[in-house]
Amino acid sequence: MKPLRDAVERFDIEEFSSEFVEINKDRGADLVADCPFCNGHNKLYISKTKRLVHCFKCSSEMCSSEWNGKADLVKWIMLCKGWKRGQAVQHILKSAGIFRKFNYVPEERDISLPRGAIKIVGNCGPDHPCRMFLRSRGLEHKIHDWYMCPLGSGDFQGRIIMPVKYMGRTTGWEAKSFCGQKPKSLSNYLPSTIYSTDLWDRSRKYAVIVEGIFDAETICCNAISIMGSDLSYEKFAHILAIKDWDVDTLIWMLDGDACNKQMKIILEWASMFFSNKFVKLPSYDDPNSMGSIESWNRIHAAESVECMYDQLTVKGKHHASYS
Ligand SMILES: [Zn+2]
Repeated sequence: MKPLRDAVERFDIEEFSSEFVEINKDRGADLVADCPFCNGHNKLYISKTKRLVHCFKCSSEMCSSEWNGKADLVKWIMLCKGWKRGQAVQHILKSAGIFRKFNYVPEERDISLPRGAIKIVGNCGPDHPCRMFLRSRGLEHKIHDWYMCPLGSGDFQGRIIMPVKYMGRTTGWEAKSFCGQKPKSLSNYLPSTIYSTDLWDRSRKYAVIVEGIFDAETICCNAISIMGSDLSYEKFAHILAIKDWDVDTLIWMLDGDACNKQMKIILEWASMFFSNKFVKLPSYDDPNSMGSIESWNRIHAAESVECMYDQLTVKGKHHASYS
């Protein structure tokens, strides 16, 4: 599960760098060049074995925060090409021939409603348990779009039925119990893996990753539920499937424990393709319990994880080899 690390090891940094800098000397492990940022003569060292770049003048003079005189391969490509992290990573993976495009297209058939499902509006009065459940979750306005299966009517009984959409078209159903049973899924793709109001809405520039379906519905646009607190590599691949390289930011809005548990995947995988931000949730709160307005306030105040990533890769491991 280390595709980027493998690709970085195979990447020809000499060939790439020679397009951007004049290489003056080849010292075996290191190439020596003039620094394109400070013009320092023979100050730039490009390590062929470690895939690191270091300017001894820039790093001692504390130049722009973006460069700082040191870069790992991803950062070096970003700087040379003016790219975002996702583009640089894609370039490295492609050059190693291990870039795999995750692509999920649902079959061209609609899935009919679960047996016994009826419209909530017109069938359930204000005191119906499903209406009361939705009201308690701040989602009663959804009665116009959603269905329910009454108790005693088939496999989905006692559940609220919500459409899973692909580009505006309904292609499946998720069901959430209003009387304490487990969620159910009826879909021809991504069953019970991730959920969003419309996964393939192309207008997104960012996505907010939350735990539950109702969290996603509370935030509405841009939210993706990972259906629980576990984020597996498979789920991440599904999140990646919705990416068309316009989405450049993921905002993680999981509770503290879940977030710590998922940090490895976020750092190893998500940071290859997206810039990542975090919302610190108060204990015992989630987007659904906080409500839409408070959730969006927190989304707007999300903090970047880049500093954490840089500490682990550049300062932690790679930088040590130059000191
Ligand atoms: Zn320099």
